[in-house]
Parts: sequence; C-alpha cells; structure tokens
Amino acid sequence: MRMIQISPRIYAGETIYSIASRIVLNDVASSVSQSMLNVFDSKNIQLNSILPSYLNQLSSLTLRTVDYLIDNHTLFEYYSAFSPDRIKKQARDFFKKGDSSATFKALGLLANRIADVEIHKYCPVCALEQEFLFGEAFWLLDHQLPLSLACIKHECMLEAKAKARKQLIFPDVDRAAVRCTTPLLFKIAELNSYLVNGYSFDPVRLNQVYAVRLINRGFATTKAVKHIKWRNEMRVYFSSLMNNEQVRKLLESSSEHGFPANIFYHDDSSHHPIKHVLIISFLFDHFGDFIVAYSQGESLLASKVKPATPQANIDTERHSKTLKLLKSGMSLRDVIRHANVSAATVRIVASKHGIALHENSRKVSNSMRRAILVQLMIGKSTQMLAEAFKLSIGDIEQTLIGQTLIKTLRQRIRFYNHRRAARQAVISALYTLVRPSISKLRKTVDKEYMWLYRHDRRWLNDFKNTYFDKQVRE
Ligand SMILES: [Zn+2]
Repeated sequence: MRMIQISPRIYAGETIYSIASRIVLNDVASSVSQSMLNVFDSKNIQLNSILPSYLNQLSSLTLRTVDYLIDNHTLFEYYSAFSPDRIKKQARDFFKKGDSSATFKALGLLANRIADVEIHKYCPVCALEQEFLFGEAFWLLDHQLPLSLACIKHECMLEAKAKARKQLIFPDVDRAAVRCTTPLLFKIAELNSYLVNGYSFDPVRLNQVYAVRLINRGFATTKAVKHIKWRNEMRVYFSSLMNNEQVRKLLESSSEHGFPANIFYHDDSSHHPIKHVLIISFLFDHFGDFIVAYSQGESLLASKVKPATPQANIDTERHSKTLKLLKSGMSLRDVIRHANVSAATVRIVASKHGIALHENSRKVSNSMRRAILVQLMIGKSTQMLAEAFKLSIGDIEQTLIGQTLIKTLRQRIRFYNHRRAARQAVISALYTLVRPSISKLRKTVDKEYMWLYRHDRRWLNDFKNTYFDKQVRE
C-alpha cells in the first residue's frame, strides 16, 4: 500500500524559522514545548538560530532536501558570499550535518565579534499581502539580512520583533507602514538581496577591485591606503546608519576593528559580510556597477584627474537634480530618465518635499480610476478595460503604477487561470486518448504539459502517479 504523504506548505523566500514554527504551531498539543517534542523529538531546539541545526529533521518533515532548504530558505549564501570556495564548501558540510557552531567558525563569523541582532524583521505591507493571499503572515529571508532596514518592494521601513526562545512568533498584520525616506537604505537592502542569491567572490580579485576604486577615488595610493580619510568619509556617508550598533562599532574612531582598511589584511578567517556590504555600497553606485567592475576589471585612472567627488555628494547632487525636475512639474517617468535615478528615489524625494507625483494621466478622473482599479483587481485584462473605458492600454497601465498589491494579485490571478487551463487541458486529453500513456499525453498537449512541468510539477507528478500507476496495476 502506498502512503500518501502531505508535506507542510512552504512559501517562496520564507525563512527556516518561519517554516519550522508553523509546523510546530500546526501540531495540536497542549503547549509549544509539547508540540516541539512531537515534531522535532526535542523541546530544546533553538528554532530561531541564524544557521539552524535542525535542517535534517526539517528535511524529512517537508520532503525537501537539506541542500534545497539551505539554498532557498537560509542566509547561508549571504554569509558565505565572500568566503573562498574551499571554506564555503567546508562550512556547507558542517551546516548539512547540523553543526551550527562549526559552520559559524568555518565562515569566520565567531572571530568577527559583530553580534547578530536578536530580532526578526518584517514589512507590514508584505505581511498584509500574505495574510490576504494565503491567510497567514510569514517571515521573509530578504528582510532578515543584516543592515536591511527597508522593504524594496513596498519602499517602507521594516518592523522588528524580538526573538523569543520558547514562543512562536509571526509578523503582525495590523501595523501601518512607515515610508522609507533614505535612499541609502534601499541601496543596501537591494545589494543584500542580490547577495543572498548565491554569488561567490574570490577574495584576491575582490581586493584588487576595491583597491582600484580606492585609488581612483583618492582613498589610496598605489602604495598605501589612506585609512583615516576613508573611514571619515564612510562615517559621513553612513551617518543615517550610525544608530545601528553594528555599523557604529565598525566605524567609530576608537574602533579596534581597524575597519575599513583591515579588509585587506589576510588571515584564514573571512570577514563578516556586512563589512563588504558597507564597502561596496560606499564605493559603487549600485550592485550592477560593482558586478561590472568585478567581472571585467577596472583600470587606474590617469594620474592628473580632478579630485574625486565624495560619494555622499554624488548622491546629494542626483537628489537635488531630482527635486528641481519634480518642482518643474515633470512626470515620474521623465524625472527617472533625466536625473538617472530609480523610481524609488524619485518617490522618496517627492514625499520628503511634499510634492505630488504626476503619475496618472489627466484624462483619468479619480472616480474613473477607482472603477478601473476594482476591475483590475479582479483580473480583467488591460485591453478589455481600455475598450470599456475608451482609454488607451497605456492609460490603464498608468493606474497600476505604485499599486503593488494589485499587481501581485493580478499576477496570481493570471497564474491560477493559466494553471487551471493547463490542468484542464491535460485531464481532458487523457480522456480523448485510446490507450493513454505519458508520452502520448505529452504529444497531444505539449505546451500545457511543459508549462505544468515548469510551474506546477508537484501536481503533474501526483497526476501521473495516481493515474498511470493505476493503469499499470489494472
Ligand atoms: Zn514589503
């Protein structure tokens, strides 16, 4: 007899803690301790550890491999992004065995003395969306990254909740979002979210890339790093982050860490990734700028260059240009183009100075706009709405600007519609075939089959197992 196992739900981008605490919560027992005992055979597991030791248990509970869990639901890639491959592999082996402290040690994180903050972070808007879409809010990996203080999707500040040992904690869904008005916070959050996706940097090459930038920007000569000058400018640049304990400790003048210059000192231990994140966001305009420099290499500028503009001034100049263009009444799209800034930056500058953005076409009145949004929310196509409201498709799309919730909703609706149609096509094809086989089925509805294979594989496999197994047995 075949046992049907129902594996617990896992959401894209959620943390291990989030998955584990939901499983414990869903186990009906008299107390959290008792549920812990039922689920993990121990009530002393620390669920909220950064590099958790219970991946093997979680793997058998969720029917996902340990590697899958590591790659998709932990910050391992972030913490090891700047470690040499050899160390990265060693650390992963320890991690897979459930030895958290050996993992930390291998990555040099114990030696760094940069305490990790004992909080879980969440975006109030993300939490609300999750509650709306899935009926429950969960913790996202992206938001747990050190120094990530804003949600890049919703351009608002993250909220924090203290970690607790014997209590299960989930994001609140009744918090009002506070708009993030500091572009630097987005820059860092964005950079972080790239790092968690499995980049790997060779330390020697990385140091060369840093060195060339430092020389070109006047923070080093070909012989030595101008440590004090560099650190002072970083202090100015990161002034909005100086109330963060980790940043303050690294950059204060009495700092025993010797940061930032000590990034060049080689011992076998790696540096904490936040050191690299600070240096990269200071020296480079954005992640792309850094990646191009890293992969293609940069050359030293000719010796007689004018003194480099401090990074903080470069940003300030861009922002004042943005402000000037906004005041002239230019539309969001044009400001982005002329000032060479992101949409998020324009919105931040606008809201900081109380300027209303010209995002919507004047043709669309407020009441019409609301009517359009309602139709968009239930998944009506932009083309259909354009015809109904006698507008252009562009006008309809304009109303969607900034409506992240509706956009996500529409994506989901499209996805579900697509999925329903594809499943339906496969099921109907089955009944039209004389002697159905998987290969015949594939041939008949190739497009839908491939779509399901890519986006709905579990259903497809279940379908094949239930139907074709039965055929064989009969
Ligand atoms: Zn969010």
